[in-house]
Amino acid sequence: MSCPRIEVDLGKIRRNTHTLARRLSPHGIDITGIIKAVCGHPAIARAMLDGGAVALADARISNVRRLRQAGIICPVTLIRTPMLSQADQVVQFCEASYNTELVIIAALASAAIRKGRVHGIILMVEMGDQRDGILPENLADIAQQVMKMPGVALQGIGANFACLSGVAPTAAQMVALGTLANEIEGGCGPILKTVSGGNSANLPWAFKEQFTGRINDLRLGEAILLGVEPVSGDPIHGMHTDAFTLITEVIETSEKPAPLPIAIVDPALARFRIAPPSGASTRLILAIGRQDTDILGLSMPAGCTLLGATSDHLVIGANQGMLKVGSEVRFHMNYNALMHAMAAPDIEVRLINDRQRQTTARDPRLVRTPDAGVRSLA
Ligand SMILES: *Cc1c(COP(=O)(O)O)cnc(C)c1O
Repeated sequence: MSCPRIEVDLGKIRRNTHTLARRLSPHGIDITGIIKAVCGHPAIARAMLDGGAVALADARISNVRRLRQAGIICPVTLIRTPMLSQADQVVQFCEASYNTELVIIAALASAAIRKGRVHGIILMVEMGDQRDGILPENLADIAQQVMKMPGVALQGIGANFACLSGVAPTAAQMVALGTLANEIEGGCGPILKTVSGGNSANLPWAFKEQFTGRINDLRLGEAILLGVEPVSGDPIHGMHTDAFTLITEVIETSEKPAPLPIAIVDPALARFRIAPPSGASTRLILAIGRQDTDILGLSMPAGCTLLGATSDHLVIGANQGMLKVGSEVRFHMNYNALMHAMAAPDIEVRLINDRQRQTTARDPRLVRTPDAGVRSLA
């Protein structure tokens, strides 16, 4: 079997999505499945839809194109504000996009008119993350202008938390977002279909709060894929945290008497030089490196310690029985490691519990294509 590879248990992705959908639907909150960390992998996207996500979203148009080429026809939203240079592709592949700039919205409107379509606009509001977003005091005015523009339809508003700042949203901020939605609608009635409260960092709020107000959508990636809440890093009760496994191959085993003396040239490399615990007499060299993944985001198997990594080699100390050359070592990944590994051209993605055949026959949103789920679509 090919190494290195990522095994993806699609059953766990489906069940994680379903668990979240079951807990959020009593609050009237839908799940938009975020697939950017898996580069828009069509089979993983399908597993989210099977589990109860009502729509999908990604930050990159290349990932959305991959989805469409695999025959997925559900609503897809671009969550990163579009590049002006990609307006045509955004309108072609996405039903809607998150936006903060009128000049880009105008370009989307022109592209939509040329294609005979109407493109949905969700206005991203800045509520403290200090990344992308319109200041709340400017929102009503921009919303008015979008409403007047042919070619686009104001579909909703949304906020984002804990991405740049790492600060989770509060109940007061969620109320404030709902109030902004009410203000936009003012005299003209309920026009906003989507009020999107945020991402996986909003889950503690959603689980705790009895009244989630006007928030009717959350954009969930990390929680579905890894079963954890991103701000605390804690596992979410009842969720699988092991849907993804990175499998690597041993290419050298050796016994070294002592760690090499540390001569740090680049301070960024210093953290990769970790002394082995006493008793870790065996060094294993694995055929994977910093070009493939975020080495610090790998959880070491029991009995193993990270000794260091270079672009193409990972060196670990093992105090368990000696592993032979050619044997496999399995790791779990955090979000950062997952995101890099899924984009690495030398890592094969292997699907487990793929129910694609039964699913596509049942679900009219999805059209089966013979090559769906194959990496070469990227
Ligand atoms: C990445 C992203 C998300 C998903 O975040 P998770 O923490 O993975 O749930 C949601 N919204 C926006 C705008 C994003 O960029």
